[in-house]
Amino acid sequence: IPVDPFDLVIFGGTGDLARRKILPGLYLRFLSGQMPEDAAIIAAARSDHDDDAYRAIIRKAIDEFVAKDKRDAKSIDAFLSRLSYVQVDAMGEGGWKELAGKIRKGMVHAFYFSVGPSLFGALAERLHKHKIADRKSRVVVEKPFGKDLASAQELNATLAQHFREEQIYRIDHYLGKETVQNLMAVRFGNMLFEPLWNAQYVDHIQITVAETVGVGGRGAYYDNSGAMRDMVQNHLMQLLCLIAMEPPNAFEPNAVRDEKLKVIRALDPVEPKDIVRGQYGPTGDEPGYIEDSENPESRTESYIALKLGISNWRWKGTPFYLRTGKKLKARASEIAVVFKDPPHSIFGEQEGRKGNVLVIRLQPNEGMNLRVTIKEPGPGGMRLIEVPLDMSFAEALGADAEDVPDAYERLIMDVIRGNQTLFMRGDEVEAAWAWTDPLIEGWQGAGTKPATYDAGSSGPEDALALMHRDGRRWREIA
Ligand code: NAD
Repeated sequence: IPVDPFDLVIFGGTGDLARRKILPGLYLRFLSGQMPEDAAIIAAARSDHDDDAYRAIIRKAIDEFVAKDKRDAKSIDAFLSRLSYVQVDAMGEGGWKELAGKIRKGMVHAFYFSVGPSLFGALAERLHKHKIADRKSRVVVEKPFGKDLASAQELNATLAQHFREEQIYRIDHYLGKETVQNLMAVRFGNMLFEPLWNAQYVDHIQITVAETVGVGGRGAYYDNSGAMRDMVQNHLMQLLCLIAMEPPNAFEPNAVRDEKLKVIRALDPVEPKDIVRGQYGPTGDEPGYIEDSENPESRTESYIALKLGISNWRWKGTPFYLRTGKKLKARASEIAVVFKDPPHSIFGEQEGRKGNVLVIRLQPNEGMNLRVTIKEPGPGGMRLIEVPLDMSFAEALGADAEDVPDAYERLIMDVIRGNQTLFMRGDEVEAAWAWTDPLIEGWQGAGTKPATYDAGSSGPEDALALMHRDGRRWREIA
């Protein structure tokens, strides 16, 4: 279904994110017919280009970042004809009049701030000064949304000077993933799961976001951040909220975000013994974290595992184990809901039983898998085995799976539609920082060093112990 006609201005339109994600995503939406005839995309950035030079940059980006079978020369030309470029300095006055002249009346107006957060205030101010933005315009901001509670509050306050909360779209691209939305469909569209979705029936929940890459080229930036700020405060926290929240009364932005906020507020403080931090060591010719960060004294974690508790009626007593890290053995993001064993086994003791697990897989191979117990086929008596009830999107949806839009594609179209459900509200982001800050201050104050782990492993030994001491184990990273 096509969206309403729009003018989308991308500040930072020549940057890495714009070339890798935003414009390829827009091209794919164009290809699918979702972009109306008179939609215009205006890139605004500091360097000097004319429209044709900018289109050439994006043609190259599409060649590089869009799958070959989706690159159709005629469609690419038609898409590029929607693009124009304005040289604008966020901090100065140059280019703003020209930009103002391009904004058409009666359209949806969206402004994507694909620039560092230090420019948000300057952009917002000039958008208003030049009467480019008004009370109906939408503004999209990228992560990182602050580095602690104070800086996040400052960013929120800066944006609030010029925009109402209903106009602000804070991106967490994890929320745009098909499976993440499917998680809500599975939880709240079925009778099957929700009655069991609580501490009485769920033994524990694991959330894993494992990467194989190191911090490589952005080591200096990353060293001021670390896995807690870069991944847990935003992506893992958002997944945790969707898994743990109460049913919202409607699938509507504030109803969903109210419930997510309640989860963050119900998180218990985390004790130091429930946090494991790690840094990857060198392997063969490949540098370790210390070399990549160019900081021999670095105590920043490239891996973190945490055990969390949620103090509410639903979850008291069910631990949530979160882990994320770089240079691990495989790239894998998944949520695993591990159910308790039946209260009594009528089949007697059975070795190696694993029980019911619902795995929600975000990448690669988005899909869901429910492990159920059945009888081992054959005459060997009542032996039980676990088999997967599997639902991969590619199989279940056949050819349509190809058309499942990528997170950025979906989120940008949601901005144009004016749907904030999959975006973080200001108070959510602040609550997440308010929970994160004391943990970081705790280990910084104690001066603890992250443990070294082998590149290509599952992370530090201590992280295994975090589970073992509770009689549980992490799922294989695969
Ligand atoms: P980048 O450095 O590649 O690009 C920055 C863009 O901002 C360029 O187009 C540049 O011309 C423009 N710019 C810089 N100063 C300007 C000024 N004074 N006036 C006007 N334009 C100016 O950065 P990026 O990697 O594309 O990241 C953009 C934002 O998105 C950052 O906030 C980053 O943290 C965030 N982000 C990036 C990624 C990613 O994968 N690259 C992922 C998540 C979030």
